This record gives sequence, structure tokens and C-alpha cells, in this order.
Amino acid sequence: MQETTGIVLRSYKLREQDKICVILTKKFGKMRGVFHHPIRRITTNGIYEEPFSEVRLQVYGREGQQLLTFKPIELIESIFQKAVDPRILTFISYAAELFDSFIPEGDPSETHYRLAKALTTSLKQDNIDDLKLYLETWVLKLAGLLPNLQSCGKCRTLLETESWIAADGTPLCRNCGGQYGEYLGAEERSAWASILGSSPGNLPPIAIETRKVLSPILQRLIRRAIEREPNSLRSFSTFEM
Ligand SMILES: [Zn+2]
Repeated sequence: MQETTGIVLRSYKLREQDKICVILTKKFGKMRGVFHHPIRRITTNGIYEEPFSEVRLQVYGREGQQLLTFKPIELIESIFQKAVDPRILTFISYAAELFDSFIPEGDPSETHYRLAKALTTSLKQDNIDDLKLYLETWVLKLAGLLPNLQSCGKCRTLLETESWIAADGTPLCRNCGGQYGEYLGAEERSAWASILGSSPGNLPPIAIETRKVLSPILQRLIRRAIEREPNSLRSFSTFEM
């Protein structure tokens, strides 16, 4: 038996009392196991295994075992204690889906854990769209799939004020890519840099027009990486009428 803290990413009902949970643990990385509900108390019922709940838990099972057993000891934090806003809940399921899709099992990553925590604590009704961009940028960045806007991917010229992004994510200069791909001017490049240089809590607001340029690029790279459209992304479109 080992003890660790973890952030729940997904849960599926298994039997009346139990669920299968995917948990991002601090010590062991992403793990999958049967979540045995602790002594039922009305106040915490169900919150333990909601996405992005942070729990202290005991992990039972051998290394390499398909399905471990989790015994939660304590609920450290849950966004479900404060959030009922449907957009916040949609954001949380999108974030959980991306984390689950991008993080391999059993590969501890302090950075992913910190990112998950920081996103949950900074999330408010008025910064969801900015944090969505933040999330998309950082899951790609941590997977090594975010274009590096510093130099052209073809001729290596330094990119200082403008760049283009090819369909496969290659950053291009005017000469190499002026006719193709999406254009990123000063505004977009500076928002990109501030996402990479800020924590979610200190992120300066991003203009709608800038988000409209960056978001489709990041989402395309995400689709390429996971080879499908994230399921929870569709739920956002219901708010964008
Ligand atoms: Zn070039």
C-alpha cells in the first residue's frame, strides 16, 4: 500500500458503490483503478470522484497491475463544492479529457500536476475562455507539440514580429510560408508569449480577436495529436451562440 495525493480526471460507474477512476497522482503519475468510496457522508457524496477533485488516497496493488484499488482518505479540494456554473463544469470536463488524452500512464509529472492545480484554483466565470487557451497551449507544450515561434521551421530565420503556422504546426517565416497557414501578428505572438510566461492566475486578459485566431490553431494541433475531436469540446459550442 502506498499513500499519495491525486487529482481525479475521469470516473466510470462499475457497481453500485464503486467507480473506475483515472487519477493523476503526484507520486506515480496517471493511474487507473477501482475507487472504493469512503464511509458515505452526504456532504462529500460523489464529489470525491468528480473531475478535478483533489484527494489524499491509498493505492493498493502491484506495479504493472491493470486495475489498482484506490481508497480515498480525505477530500482536499473540489471545484464541485463551489461551481455550479455550466461553463465552469464544461471547462473542467474538457481539461480532464485533455489531461487524460495527453498524459501517459505511470509517468509522474510534477509540471502536469501543478498545471492541473493552478487551473482549478484560478478558474472563474470571467476567465474561462482565456484559461481554455492556456490549457490548450500547455498540454501541447508539455507534450512537445507546441510550435516554437522563435524561428522559422524551414530556413531557421529568427521570427520577430510575425509568423505563419502550417497545417502540421511548423512555424514559418514570410518567405517560407507567406502564402500558407495561419498568420500570427504582433498581438497573437504576444498573447502566445504571455501564456507561456504566466501562471493561470496572473494571465493578462486576451482579446477576443486574438483568441479567435489562436484557438482554432491549437485545437487543430490537439486533434492531430489525439487523432480525434475532444468530446467535451463540443459542449462549449452550445455557449457560443
Ligand atoms: Zn523561412
